[in-house]
Amino acid sequence: MKSFEPPRRTLMGPGPSDVHPRVLEAMARPTIGHLDPAFVGLMDEICGLLRQTFRTENALTFPVSGPGSVGMEACFVNLLEPGDTIIVCQNGVFGGRMKQMAERCGATVVMVTSPWGRAVDVAAVEEAVKAHPEASVLGFVHAETSTGARSDAETLAALAQRHGMLTIVDTVTSLGGIPLEVDAWGLDAVYSGTQKCLSCPPGLSPVTFSARAVERVKARSHDVQSWFMDLRLVMGYWQGGAKRAYHHTAPINALYGLHEALVMLHELGLENSWARHHEAHARLKRGLDTLGLELLVPEAERLPQLNSVCIPDGVDDAEVRSALLEQHGLEIGAGLGDLAGKVWRIGLMGQGADERHVDFCLEALRAVLSEQRAKVAVSA
Ligand SMILES: *Cc1c(COP(=O)(O)O)cnc(C)c1O
Repeated sequence: MKSFEPPRRTLMGPGPSDVHPRVLEAMARPTIGHLDPAFVGLMDEICGLLRQTFRTENALTFPVSGPGSVGMEACFVNLLEPGDTIIVCQNGVFGGRMKQMAERCGATVVMVTSPWGRAVDVAAVEEAVKAHPEASVLGFVHAETSTGARSDAETLAALAQRHGMLTIVDTVTSLGGIPLEVDAWGLDAVYSGTQKCLSCPPGLSPVTFSARAVERVKARSHDVQSWFMDLRLVMGYWQGGAKRAYHHTAPINALYGLHEALVMLHELGLENSWARHHEAHARLKRGLDTLGLELLVPEAERLPQLNSVCIPDGVDDAEVRSALLEQHGLEIGAGLGDLAGKVWRIGLMGQGADERHVDFCLEALRAVLSEQRAKVAVSA
């Protein structure tokens, strides 16, 4: 047996995104104990940096030990009890996953569906909210990575608040990539991931809970069915300071990496990071225009960090993606669900949101598509 040597790749799919060498170096530093006073300091700094990134003063803000899906499940299992009603907005894959999680919590789920590739339809949500006064939570995805559509989190949260509902908001792909204002918009249970616009390896899920959400958790009449994700237990670990109670062993080296990624984001500035994603998207769009390729999502609802490109007629989806990978070391994403075979997903996330990545991707696509077209012309 030999050590594993990963091939060199450029990651421009729906995540994971390219990780900066500074983050990888940080992760290679010596492991220390998770109750070491030095580690307590690191945990506190990470929570502070996450508050800045989420734009919140929420005391309960920390990275869940697990990928985005674990942060997601942590929000659902803590905010929902058997018999509760939740309204879930679905305009892609991840709204569907919200439904599955809510059902496993014993909740009644009211779905509001919008077409894939479009933002969540606020008017339809408003109707559902009015028709279901018993609903206590509204769940939606801010940045739908399966399609590249951005929903209006601010308006949806305001609607929920007017009706006394809490919100569960998926910001896995939005954090660091587009404006996200947890406090100003009044979001309640918000989860994200490290592997998208934070340019960190997968495996951690930053979350933040409003005071209202924490009250709801404290007032539960049933224990959270998951021991690991029960916020009442995890709180003591992340908020206990020097008196932290052992809950689980935090993934020490992964947290070194997250800390470094957040320090880098802090150095760049959050607004500059949003601008960087926007500029990279504009450059990609201009290049796609010259290649005659179109984006799926209408301009006003587009995410800069995830671009769904319509696959032209006669072009073989899988062949193009494997040629990009084999000949250029470039990974882009395939379409999911209803969009399988219809779109490619080009991610411009974190470190990948720069001119170098955009130009490399456009050049590789140009080369592979001209090969494909030549083949089609020959066989025709
Ligand atoms: C990637 C993603 C997730 C899941 O994150 P994992 O780290 O893969 O578990 C959830 N929601 C959205 C919108 C995502 O893009």
